[in-house]
Amino acid sequence: MAELKADFHTHSADDPRDDLSHSTEMLIDAAAQLNFRVLALTCHEGVTATERLREYARRRGITFVPGLEACIEGKHVVILNPDGEQASAATFAELRALGRRDAAFLAPHPYYPSRSSLGRALEDNIDLFDAVEFCTLYVRWAGFNRRAVRVARKYGLPLIGTSDLHAFPYCDSTCTLVDAAPNADDIVAAIRQGRVTLATRPRTLREGMGLVLYSLRTSWKGRIYGFGGKDRRQSVVSHTGKGHTESF
Ligand SMILES: [Zn+2]
Ligand SMILES: [Zn+2]
Repeated sequence: MAELKADFHTHSADDPRDDLSHSTEMLIDAAAQLNFRVLALTCHEGVTATERLREYARRRGITFVPGLEACIEGKHVVILNPDGEQASAATFAELRALGRRDAAFLAPHPYYPSRSSLGRALEDNIDLFDAVEFCTLYVRWAGFNRRAVRVARKYGLPLIGTSDLHAFPYCDSTCTLVDAAPNADDIVAAIRQGRVTLATRPRTLREGMGLVLYSLRTSWKGRIYGFGGKDRRQSVVSHTGKGHTESF
């Protein structure tokens, strides 16, 4: 099987909770230009995955994976391929009672300074999670991802990279290579079995300015993201695309 370039965490104007200007079709077009082969649209608290969107993506060589960024006890949890009950769960206990079924559970931006980040709730509910996100929002070194790396290693969970895209230009500085057949079921299975490789690099200063502007624009909503740390020892990152990739 080929390794497919994947983005498992994105947003678009189809998200009723976000005020975004790009359509899902624009997102798919931009992903195709960056040679993504797998794309999950993860609207807040609702799955948007129509057959028309799947076909739109398919015609551009992309497997569309249904998903959402759920709010579980106030904390964000990305669920890929959820059923209706999983998509409407509100507590960790509910999710645990429902079980994995055909879904995969990801911990997005777990240690970034935001009320919606899992923080300690990740280790408290570690049995629920299949992978830990290595957040794209950092400019130098690994920043708030360092703890995510430690926790993923501690529990033997794979790290995945996503764009958590909210605004264009589409930045693919952090993504995932998944060793799977191009269908949602096998892609979800690959995440659960750890057949994924994180590919990431810090954002450039120019890209970082976009993060600052985005952070300022969204901070009033309570989404305050942090930026890179100061520890050179944690420069455990690598470049995507033309550069090399590194698994953790
Ligand atoms: Zn989030
Ligand atoms: Zn998100």
